[in-house]
Amino acid sequence: RHLLRRSSLDRFSARLFSSAASAPRPIRATLFPGDGIGPEIAESVKQVFNAAEVPIEWEEHFVGNKVDPRTESFLTWESLESVRRNGVGLKGPMATPIGKGHRSLNLALRKELGLYANVRPCYSLPGYKTRYDDVNLVTIRENTEGEYSGLEHQVVRGVVESVKIITRQASSRVAEYAFHYAKTNGRQRVSVVHKANIMRKTDGLFLKCCREVAKNYPDITYEEVVIDNCCMMLVKNPTLFDVLVMPNLYGDIISDLCAGLIGGLGLTPSCNIGEGGIALAEAVHGSAPDIAGKNLANPTALLLSGVAMLRHLKLTDKADRIHDAILNTIAEGKHRTVDLVSLNSGAWSS
Ligand code: NAD
Repeated sequence: RHLLRRSSLDRFSARLFSSAASAPRPIRATLFPGDGIGPEIAESVKQVFNAAEVPIEWEEHFVGNKVDPRTESFLTWESLESVRRNGVGLKGPMATPIGKGHRSLNLALRKELGLYANVRPCYSLPGYKTRYDDVNLVTIRENTEGEYSGLEHQVVRGVVESVKIITRQASSRVAEYAFHYAKTNGRQRVSVVHKANIMRKTDGLFLKCCREVAKNYPDITYEEVVIDNCCMMLVKNPTLFDVLVMPNLYGDIISDLCAGLIGGLGLTPSCNIGEGGIALAEAVHGSAPDIAGKNLANPTALLLSGVAMLRHLKLTDKADRIHDAILNTIAEGKHRTVDLVSLNSGAWSS
């Protein structure tokens, strides 16, 4: 069973980014160490990559200390140009102040680079026991619109309005990505997560687009699930799910829930897929200010994101080697970060 699981995971990871072209060596990739625990875990990735002799030259970019008018955020234009030029990158978490301040750096990156889909695989790690043994699902999050449009204003005193944008173009594009992903990774089922019974126009359009795309994939089972029911089903029996596709905010929430099923946010990687084949990998988690600078952060999620980036670059041997080393280390149990030891870790953050 273990071998079967490994082979299915390998196949799934190997085809994570089906449009990748083979890259010349040495390969330049952009690195954003990010905020909070970002620099610590980015340093771990660099050390592991060096030890594995991965032929990557990092172009490191830090968040600026003033707003760049060309990006309308603290992200520099040069850093975006670096990702566009290299086509691949690894990103640490970037903090966004709650309820005030500048435009979210994450939103700026997604918008400027056209990062339309965020792929968030989540699978049980052999040798690390949680309530579930067989989680193996992928959340695909629409990454550019929904409640993240950034269009908010005060209507009158005491009343504010936030605009949820759903377009046919973005919905069809992410649905197409999800079905294509399922097909090329040997996955059987795509579940669309929505709340179209209440958000009739917005989620209604998202559903409609998914239904249209599903018709072109007769071999993939298509199903629709309302988000609240989806949460219940995921907690009760996560093996019911395979590939899940959903609007932006739901993807943000569901993928944290899924992380909890397999051991927490320290373990779950992701990759943003952008126009022109750009791949910007990043952990699902944020900057974890509660543990930053304390040498407590689990680097696994960012490392696995780095592995996804290597697969995109067709550096399969290096990716396999690092992937195996991560899984073996966790399974061995001698060197585990505190989040994998204490059930209360991550319980009461912001
Ligand atoms: P968070 O993901 O940073 O932390 C949630 C909990 O998980 C915390 O208790 C934290 O200690 C724990 N945790 C997260 N990553 C961990 C790791 N690698 N190892 C061990 N424990 C880990 O979420 P938050 O506290 O809500 O957000 C903090 C900041 O990060 C906010 O400014 C938020 O906007 C930002 N954020 C950024 C991204 C991103 O850059 N993609 C994603 C989510 C949140």
